[in-house]
Amino acid sequence: MLDIRYLKGVGEARAKLFAKKNIKTVEDLLYFFPRGHEDRSKTKQICACEIGETVCIDATVFSPVKETRIRKNMTIYSMIISDETGGMTVVWYNNKYVKGQFKTGDEYIFYGKIQASRQKRELVNPIYEKRGRQRFTGKIVPVYPLTENLTQRMVQGAMEQALEVAGPLEEYIPKDIRERYNIAELNFAMRNIHFPADFNSYEIARRRFVFEELLILQLALSMRKADIHQKTRAPYTDTACVQEFIEKLPFALTGAQERVIDELCADFQKSRPMNRLVQGDVGSGKTVVAAAAMYVTVKNGFQAAIMAPTEILANQHYETFSAFFAGTGLRICLLTGSTKKKKELYGQIAAGEMDLIVGTHALIQKDVAYKNLGLAVTDEQHRFGVSQRAGLAGKGDNPNVLVMTATPIPRTLAIILYGDLDISIIDELPPGRKPVATYAVGENMRKRIYAFLEKHLREGMQSYVICPLIEETEKSDLQNAVQIKEQLQRVFPGYSVGLLHGKMKAKEKDAVMEAFIAHQIDILVSTTVIEVGVNVPNSNMMIIENAERFGLSQLHQLRGRVGRGHDQAYCILFAHGNNDVTKKRMETMCMSNDGFYISEQDLRLRGPGDFFGTRQHGLPDLKIANLFADMDMLKLAQEAARELLETDPALQQPANAGLRKRVQQVFQPEIAMN
Ligand code: ADP
Ligand code: MG
Repeated sequence: MLDIRYLKGVGEARAKLFAKKNIKTVEDLLYFFPRGHEDRSKTKQICACEIGETVCIDATVFSPVKETRIRKNMTIYSMIISDETGGMTVVWYNNKYVKGQFKTGDEYIFYGKIQASRQKRELVNPIYEKRGRQRFTGKIVPVYPLTENLTQRMVQGAMEQALEVAGPLEEYIPKDIRERYNIAELNFAMRNIHFPADFNSYEIARRRFVFEELLILQLALSMRKADIHQKTRAPYTDTACVQEFIEKLPFALTGAQERVIDELCADFQKSRPMNRLVQGDVGSGKTVVAAAAMYVTVKNGFQAAIMAPTEILANQHYETFSAFFAGTGLRICLLTGSTKKKKELYGQIAAGEMDLIVGTHALIQKDVAYKNLGLAVTDEQHRFGVSQRAGLAGKGDNPNVLVMTATPIPRTLAIILYGDLDISIIDELPPGRKPVATYAVGENMRKRIYAFLEKHLREGMQSYVICPLIEETEKSDLQNAVQIKEQLQRVFPGYSVGLLHGKMKAKEKDAVMEAFIAHQIDILVSTTVIEVGVNVPNSNMMIIENAERFGLSQLHQLRGRVGRGHDQAYCILFAHGNNDVTKKRMETMCMSNDGFYISEQDLRLRGPGDFFGTRQHGLPDLKIANLFADMDMLKLAQEAARELLETDPALQQPANAGLRKRVQQVFQPEIAMN
């Protein structure tokens, strides 16, 4: 595969920028799909251009560029262009590069936005290309999902070359499948997904890649399921012992918890390993269900391990389980990145001197060996990659596998996408929970919200303030959290404001969290690291800044941090931008406290591109398919996958070799998000 640096204009520095988008080879680049297109294929006559439009104009330079300095740091470069229908001023701000560029009489294609200046139309900051030497005008041009530093022009240019140098790509969807499902050929599709001849060709191209992506996903899942079904393990001999555990609990289980525990025990009695997903809303009490399963496992002579996505959560689990199992003689240990004397602990785990191992990714490090792992639990599975989940299971001899999530996906989808897992649902909350009162507000309400917060603090309560942190722009967002902290400290000088973010060391995080629990901190400004975390019942108000930048399931998850005590809890969403989707999303949050409903809306209202991502749902990162909009396609892909595997269950025929390679890539190690 060709390195991206092979392309002209892509050197060391630019390759780094591409790498940030996970683009390292020319092939990666080709699979970096646009989020939309600009139609620059038709030119418009100057007389017909209207204010506010973005247009392509084919015109002649009428006067050379004039430089006008209006103030320090602001110089305008302008010139006049004309076609047979009229003239227009072109304006660039602070772009001294255009100065020597144009000669009177030269013919150019301009592309830019028409704006009004004192009632006159002006073409502002257009791009331009000499007539006859056009690359990115006169056609439909892709627009890529970019953030900082990489420009559209850079990617467009690189893409154009990539399509050339990659040569004819080898088709890997077998011909008969393509014909039966009416799927375009790879080379046609690749060209037209980026630089479509027309919008119809784009649709045909997109259809192919959606099909391809979903087909590969389906193949991967089906093959894995077939794999799992071949595994065997000896059933547990005693599952009735779960009653001992249940009787000692300080509360009565909900009906749903009891049902799910029964389902787990039934699995334990089978002669193949359990492979089960437990979905349950935030606060539905998944931990105790896992504890019951672990208890039974240990009583049957095996070890049990539970992996949590953060150190804070692992610590909390460790404490919870220590309390649950007090007096049972179960030997529990905690293994995280900051565990001291790891070697000693490894020795105890390997010797079977520990029954229950609670930890983070540290549990799947290569040095960790278990004596006889009978149950591998992954909590908040959406935070882990598929391979990390598999990594824990791989530490035992076909252990039972339990994964738990609070960001459920609708059942119809779950059945298709988690084809390899059985599903249990905890659809009942413990008694006495009050829904969190949620309000979406604009900036104009900030004073009133702060007054409300002040009253809340005066009553001796605490509050969270959450700021977004999106991977690509970490730096500026981090600053954002710091700024918000400082601002709040100014507004509330009598109270202590703390800060928690993902870039802090585990120790620092813990110290802040402990100070918050001890009420030495009144307002905790935090990024989403708080999402899965510790219960602080005295903190029952949460303010979320830039709420529009979060996925709905994530907002719901965050909101689940409050409302754990007896008093009415509040969640305030500061949302900016008033587009319809944002409005609907915020409405959903205000009217519903049901994680299942919210999750469905989340997927339905997903913004363009990957903005709200599928990751929050633990689904593989889909580049182009939208699971709701492309549901029909998903069904077709499922059918095609079944057909393929019927005749070639391990995809070993030469015609399927390309597909097999892609399927393997789906399960290659992924990096955990956190
Ligand atoms: P989640 O499903 O979000 O992981 P947890 O397992 O952390 O939820 O449970 C949330 C809280 O509810 C915990 O404090 C737990 O002890 C409590 N809890 C769980 N089940 C019950 C129950 N049946 N009755 C009362 N409280 C419960
Ligand atoms: Mg939990």
